[in-house]
Amino acid sequence: MRIESAAVRAHRLPLHRSWDGGVDKNDLVVVEVAADTGHTGTGFAWTPGAGAGAVLALVRDDCAPALVGWAPDPGVCWDALRARLADAGSGGVSAMALAAVDIALWDLRAKAVGLPLVELLGRRRDAVPAYASGVNLDYPKDELLDQVRGWKAAGHRAFKVKVGSADPARDADRVAAVREEVGPEAVLMVDANQRWDLPSAVRALGELERFSPAFVEEPLPAEDLRAHARLRARTALPFAMGENLRTERAFAAALEAGVCDVAQPNAVRVGGITPFLRIAGAAAEASVPVAPHLLPELSTQLALCVPRVAMVEDIDRAWLEDLGALERPSGVRVSAGAATADTGPGHGLEFRKDLPPLPEG
Ligand code: MG
Repeated sequence: MRIESAAVRAHRLPLHRSWDGGVDKNDLVVVEVAADTGHTGTGFAWTPGAGAGAVLALVRDDCAPALVGWAPDPGVCWDALRARLADAGSGGVSAMALAAVDIALWDLRAKAVGLPLVELLGRRRDAVPAYASGVNLDYPKDELLDQVRGWKAAGHRAFKVKVGSADPARDADRVAAVREEVGPEAVLMVDANQRWDLPSAVRALGELERFSPAFVEEPLPAEDLRAHARLRARTALPFAMGENLRTERAFAAALEAGVCDVAQPNAVRVGGITPFLRIAGAAAEASVPVAPHLLPELSTQLALCVPRVAMVEDIDRAWLEDLGALERPSGVRVSAGAATADTGPGHGLEFRKDLPPLPEG
């Protein structure tokens, strides 16, 4: 089997409600790979902020021409394309372009053998725990509690809320109210999105520890492993990190430093399924579970296959399906706090062709 063509397009998907800081859309880059056997595969990259146009250009100008004529082996293609993109850097938009291609090649391979992606990768479990999550730091407290009640009503028993307010007393007040709402037995987590520096993290976690968060996510700038080590000496709370680590090497360094208790690779940001699985393997070797970042339709499928897993993130109203991106439901579902996948051959993600285009300029 040989790759015959690789086509790419980019779209802008409005969010139902803006994320903190005014993010009002998610951008999507879709890659369609076709083989000389007639089989096809679909991949995608995703970004809520910058980079979609650059990813589109990298796939169109640097990946697609190289792919034609290659055997569609995802791991081999990934290593070769990464070398090809080396001058553009190893993470960032290069990794996102690699991801779009890599996801398409895995989809192609699964479809070619008539298997769901989960069965091709090797299913290790029928379901994975899911937690409810929202980008809600700017919500007034009553709207935050309404959101949490909605999650409870949907059967969730694990919840994550944003912290990192300019006034730490605001965070403590909100987390107290959420803990009261979900009850002492529920799993509650907090996510600071790198908003703190070391002194403010020490102060904030001193306040928040009494609400027994299962972990604190991104308490500090993600790549500052020394600061994490210093914070580690000041708190007993586990650290979750990874949505802003973009390479296998960055995860290896965080695991080696002993500051990553829950690894959160984003399958697009790290460069696709191929490196995601390598990162999950390294995490398992370090006795660290994986909790993939966002992208629930794909993350769930990967979480069903990795050796050691914590949870998947059920992001409120921002599944690809919620944003209207899909031709039909993917087969990935969350029900009563558990995520499952029943996709048919491939990963089950078929993107609509009539989505709004990415604006130019
Ligand atoms: Mg986060």
